[in-house]
Amino acid sequence: MKKIETQIYQYLKERGWDNLAPANIAKSISIEAAELLEIFQWTNNSLEETKKDTQKMAEIKKELADVLIYAFDMAVLLEIDTQKIIEEKLEQVKKKYPAVLMRKNAKAQSGSGASSEYLKIKNDYRRKGKS
Ligand SMILES: [Mg+2]
Repeated sequence: MKKIETQIYQYLKERGWDNLAPANIAKSISIEAAELLEIFQWTNNSLEETKKDTQKMAEIKKELADVLIYAFDMAVLLEIDTQKIIEEKLEQVKKKYPAVLMRKNAKAQSGSGASSEYLKIKNDYRRKGKS
């Protein structure tokens, strides 16, 4: 178990929270993700603009930490190897969204590369029932 996972397990165990139902943790991840999203309500600032906004960055750090802590809570209690699942998923995503195709459009979109190519691949996968 890695350092952060050990710390999370200890934090849960000390509080008697080491028997939480996974559904409750999933709900909490979603609730905290909504709190993170709320920070961006009615704004559309760029990455650089956001990084310069110290107040916003403080709020983002707080809510992102909440999301990550609940995500690690779930992983630790279900004995999931976070390093392994992240690496496996990254490999899947790399294949699903080839870098050459995504990079081609990312600069023009000044964002995620959410171009027609990205959406086409995503929608094809959804139609096939893949994640
Ligand atoms: Mg929160």
